Amino acid sequence: MTELLEKPVSGVGAYYVKRLERLGIKTSRDLLRHFPTRYEDFSHVKRIGELRDGDICSVTAKVQEIKNRRAWRRRMFLTEAVVSDETGSMYAIWFNQPFLTRNIPKGALVSLAGKVQYGNKGLYFSNPGYEVVARHPHGDAALRRQERRHTAGLIPIYPETRGLTSRALRFLIQPLLKEASRLPDPLPEALRRRLGLMEFRKAIQAVHFPLSLKTADDARRRFAFEELFLFQLLLFLMKRKLKTLPAPVIKTDLAHVKQFIASLPFELTRDQKKAAWDILKDIAKPSPMNRLLNGDVGSGKTVVAAIAALETLAQGYQVALMAPTEILARQHFEKLFKFLGSFDAKLAMLAAKSTAIADDGLYGKVRRYTLLEKLKKGEPYFVIGTHALIQKEVSFGKLGLVIIDEQHRFGVTQRAHLTRGTQIPHLLSMTATPIPRTLALALYGDLDISLLRELPKGRKTIMTSVVPPARREATYAFMREEIRKGRQAFIICPRIEAQDVGYEEYLSLDTKAVKEEHQRLKEEVFPDLSLEMLHGKMKSEEKERIMATFAENKTHVLVSTSVVEVGIDIPNASAMMIEGADQFGLAQLHQFRGRVGRGEHQSYCFLFTDSAAKAARMRLEAFANVHDGFLLAEEDLKIRGPGEFFGTAQSGIPDLAMRSLKDLSLLELARNEARTLLEHDPQLQSAPFLKARLEEFRQEVHLE
Ligand code: ADP
Ligand code: MG
Repeated sequence: MTELLEKPVSGVGAYYVKRLERLGIKTSRDLLRHFPTRYEDFSHVKRIGELRDGDICSVTAKVQEIKNRRAWRRRMFLTEAVVSDETGSMYAIWFNQPFLTRNIPKGALVSLAGKVQYGNKGLYFSNPGYEVVARHPHGDAALRRQERRHTAGLIPIYPETRGLTSRALRFLIQPLLKEASRLPDPLPEALRRRLGLMEFRKAIQAVHFPLSLKTADDARRRFAFEELFLFQLLLFLMKRKLKTLPAPVIKTDLAHVKQFIASLPFELTRDQKKAAWDILKDIAKPSPMNRLLNGDVGSGKTVVAAIAALETLAQGYQVALMAPTEILARQHFEKLFKFLGSFDAKLAMLAAKSTAIADDGLYGKVRRYTLLEKLKKGEPYFVIGTHALIQKEVSFGKLGLVIIDEQHRFGVTQRAHLTRGTQIPHLLSMTATPIPRTLALALYGDLDISLLRELPKGRKTIMTSVVPPARREATYAFMREEIRKGRQAFIICPRIEAQDVGYEEYLSLDTKAVKEEHQRLKEEVFPDLSLEMLHGKMKSEEKERIMATFAENKTHVLVSTSVVEVGIDIPNASAMMIEGADQFGLAQLHQFRGRVGRGEHQSYCFLFTDSAAKAARMRLEAFANVHDGFLLAEEDLKIRGPGEFFGTAQSGIPDLAMRSLKDLSLLELARNEARTLLEHDPQLQSAPFLKARLEEFRQEVHLE
């Protein structure tokens, strides 16, 4: 019976299959685990005569009239109905659903649910949920209340996509529930009882169609726990497996390391020393390192990575560093050459369009083929590049260490593919997104973590201020003055908060805002300067080209959405203006701010907000005074939850579990239970259903 749920969703038509796929739903099982984000409470059934403006409720009424018309705005259809019961009448309108006149015939008895509003024609519902209770009153058998899915009791609201509404999802999910209730519970009974978690059979019903908010909460808590528990089990198992795999032993030559450190033009911070030491200890072991180096922008991660690379090269092994874009790769290449050039380390750069080499006094372009041959033979190069590094044609004969910049996950399988040897290379991931410890454990519990909390001495703080609207012109003038001095500026445009649009629409709204703003600035504010624009809908080559032009100081102002590159160094940029700043999380604001202040120039960050809310302003004022990314991240986690840090897709953690991370106690519980279980029963022999579910889960989250 469980097989049935593994099959692709069928019998729903190609239309739905395509849209379900957009939500990542392929099988009936996926569909069952597409949990609601919230519920609308229509347990209040009212009569029309007792309705008040603002009521959230449902009514059962007869359709007196229903018709379509074109609305005042172009290409918009309006369906308008007049309905009544014995106590009075009201109307309902729907937008762009002309087919409703067929679904809801005149004379039918319908149940409508939504928020009551008051307009010039009296009380009405706008886009209410609806259900035809009987097509002809007194005719066919009436739909009983408990059979209603859209207008009675608690109505689940799901994550939607364009062309796939919650209403459709309810239609698709409900028929699966009977099947689902026969599935075994993956959580061992003893554990479930001990923790007071609802059993699967009840929970799956209650999470979709709860009878009360309390049961809905209990059901969600159960599934959130289950997801976190599975995720933690997976992380522990991955970590354990890694320990059994062979890796090159990179012995530390202490004198060599000291010589390198002495050659630097600065003194390492305490955090840098500690991190470097942890890494050197890891790579000296015969099993693969898996470490995350987490430090704010400018905390000096590169030099720490360089120390590990130096020792690996000295032992005759290759090192690969992968950056998300070509410009970043080039910047790393140049920076690392400065550090390592005099230590007879051979460096090479490999990206889609460029190949370069730096060794034995040789510096410049090299034929791609020549470099690939050298790598295959196992010559100890430090290769810096983009995704080009993990293409088939590239193979490393003797890879000792992989360094990944700004990509949080890179699996054992991926790194195994890089190398032709039997050993698994060590892995160092680096990120400038400050991740609070608890969250790091939840998401990256399989990694060891080194933090660079302290910034090198002598860094200028970026002067940050919340600017009142009246000072907008003055701010433009200030930026103009910076540009006159030879500097450059960023203008970050807000995303648009539109709760009920699908992701694609959301992206295009975002794009629209930045396009309009770019146009306005170009025509009205800085007509004499050169402006470029950057947004998420651009092709990556286009984005790279624009960033590169900006990095070469050929553009004065870059107008961008939140896509603006992480980690890129534009030391000449000294001013940033953030529009709609209240709409961003603190951690994200901090990321933006880190784009300036990377050179010797005093830098500035100006925050604008249209929000009149005092709380929003206070939050921004606080941000202006705090420069510790970790503090801001912890604050954000408390206020806005973990969704602010990563897109769910990026972290691999399921939705519900992700949302539950706001309450860290559930995570800690899941983590402890997972650890204890694996200590007592490493093969999960006592919990066969859990084991089976874990296998499915492994495929769903594809962390590897
Ligand atoms: P990030 O962590 O953002 O990648 P980088 O490694 O690019 O930071 O370092 C930022 C700058 O700070 C570089 O120019 C680097 O040479 C310099 N730097 C690194 N460590 C120190 C230090 N301990 N003292 C002074 N400058 C440092
Ligand atoms: Mg960096």
